Amino acid sequence: MDLFEYQARDIFEQHGVPVLGGVVATTVEEARAGAQRLFDAGSAVVVVKAQVKVGGRGKAGGVKLARSVAEAGERAGEILGMDIKGHTVHRVMIAAGADIAQEFYFSLLLDRAERRYLAMASVEGGMEIEQLAVERPEALAKVPVDPRVGIDEAKADEIVAAAGFAPDVAPKVAAVLRRLWDVYDGEDATLVEVNPLVLTGAGEVVALDGKVTLDGNAGFRHPGHTALEDVASGDPLETRAKEKGLNYVKLDGSVGVIGNGAGLVMSTLDVVAYAGERHGGVRPANFLDIGGGASAEVMAAGLDIILSDPQVRSVFVNVFGGITACDAVANGIVAALGILGDHATKPLVVRLDGNNVLEGRRILAEAAHPLVTLADTMDGGADKAAELAHAAA
Ligand code: GDP
Ligand code: MN
Repeated sequence: MDLFEYQARDIFEQHGVPVLGGVVATTVEEARAGAQRLFDAGSAVVVVKAQVKVGGRGKAGGVKLARSVAEAGERAGEILGMDIKGHTVHRVMIAAGADIAQEFYFSLLLDRAERRYLAMASVEGGMEIEQLAVERPEALAKVPVDPRVGIDEAKADEIVAAAGFAPDVAPKVAAVLRRLWDVYDGEDATLVEVNPLVLTGAGEVVALDGKVTLDGNAGFRHPGHTALEDVASGDPLETRAKEKGLNYVKLDGSVGVIGNGAGLVMSTLDVVAYAGERHGGVRPANFLDIGGGASAEVMAAGLDIILSDPQVRSVFVNVFGGITACDAVANGIVAALGILGDHATKPLVVRLDGNNVLEGRRILAEAAHPLVTLADTMDGGADKAAELAHAAA
């Protein structure tokens, strides 16, 4: 789970990483109130920052300085609703402005291939870090970190030495790296990135931006992470799906996909994307795994979520009958359409295979629902669903 910058900022603060004041706002009024608080607390300038989970906000115009409450309100008005690389800005953070003398880079991540962590640091941080990594990789120090030891004093010294920090700032940066290790380890993160980590005019080292990915598999150790996730997911359909216990991920295409088993659903996404190339480039609208049960209730809940997505033009139901046989799944689909009634408005292509497949197909054929088309194969079903989505676009 990726966090928003303001959530990362709060977590940094809890672990003693130096950060500046910051408040999240969803409206211009909240942004103005937040700016007022920061100006009252002594800031000469505030920064209005788009809260989207994508890098390069600065370059996209999503980070703006403001010198008054009125100006902060105007900047927030411009940034809220903005589209940054396909992400709509629903929140801004109003942060105390920093007097930046130098911008550094630091990240700590899980290096799966090497079965350890990897720290990266550079004295040339800021918005051009990707370019730096490609053009002058030697300017980005890479230091392996043993998960059993972490960033202790010696490791922090090793990292700042490898990155070539000046002797006067090196110890200050090293101290911050140890706090960032505390974030990484204490929160079970798989990524902590700070760009820029800055040296201020007053000689302090401060984390001005933060990107944190938490390990969802360690969620049980962190009850507090659930609240972060609820806000973080942001997508209302994903939140609704989660409440119903459905394994749903919103994508940006127009062919809704329902299947049972994560592997089958993943390959269904591929097959739909492939078929879509023949039908105007339509793509899958979501990942939805209804699991082994595939009861009428679960099928209805899944269809309901998918049909609520305004981007969806057709739905491909791809189920392999196993413990729950195809006849039960077919009855589930028929019952689900009954439950949904007028709410079911988009064409459904159903492909059943596996246990009791003939009986399953017979049930669907007999029900003869006007929205349902039966498909014999996965490829055929994907093709039909893509065709219908394209025709309805
Ligand atoms: P990103 O582009 O999404 O990584 O957003 P950042 O939070 O890193 O901000 C982009 C750039 O805006 C930084 O590299 C800084 O140069 C600048 N910036 C951010 N906060 C401040 C601030 O408080 N004061 C000043 N002067 N510049 C800032
Ligand atoms: Mn940044």
